[in-house]
Amino acid sequence: MHAASFAHVRHWVFDLDNTLYSPEVRLFEQIQLKMTQWVMEALRLDRAAADALRADYWRRYGTTLAGLMEEHGIDPDPYLEVVHEIALDALTPDPDLAAAIGALPGRRIVFTNGSAPYARRVLAARGLEGLFHAVYGVEHARYRPKPEIVAYQTVFGTDGCEPATAAMFEDDVRNLREPHALGMRTVLVAPEAVEAPHVHHHTVDLTAFLARLGG
Ligand SMILES: [Mg+2]
Repeated sequence: MHAASFAHVRHWVFDLDNTLYSPEVRLFEQIQLKMTQWVMEALRLDRAAADALRADYWRRYGTTLAGLMEEHGIDPDPYLEVVHEIALDALTPDPDLAAAIGALPGRRIVFTNGSAPYARRVLAARGLEGLFHAVYGVEHARYRPKPEIVAYQTVFGTDGCEPATAAMFEDDVRNLREPHALGMRTVLVAPEAVEAPHVHHHTVDLTAFLARLGG
């Protein structure tokens, strides 16, 4: 039943942060710290005000960057470079996940709200480089983040992804809404399950989930 739900899938779309590595690594917290520091300096705010502004932008615009661009007209490229300058020491290669992803039939892509150069560094640190046919960052979505529909339309259009034969793996439940509406199979990869009509599957263990598809 599980494998049958994916028998038609020929396009595999993966989020990056907290999806292709465990949230227990706490890598994204480093980026969040960098984003807060950037906001503090650029907008001359103290830490509490910067965190509050980031939370507000995340809720209203999907990401801090989208809010900064909309409300302050910031140049996204220098921002993306600075906030992704983090140590990846906590990441370790994952041969089992690499094997499970490598066994998926068809086209495999990464689609992150981070930048593509950062995504490639993370993939290399996880031993997952070479498994993906393309890596898309927010710069490939005209700087519009998931969960905005235009982000999916842009990236899927570029990649030639047909939603009817595609599946999406994500840790942020918001980011599965549009994929579901487009007709994709949706998988929430997260410690906690979320009951929502746009979530077809939930797993805490991406490797085990993918391995079952090939069985
Ligand atoms: Mg994520």
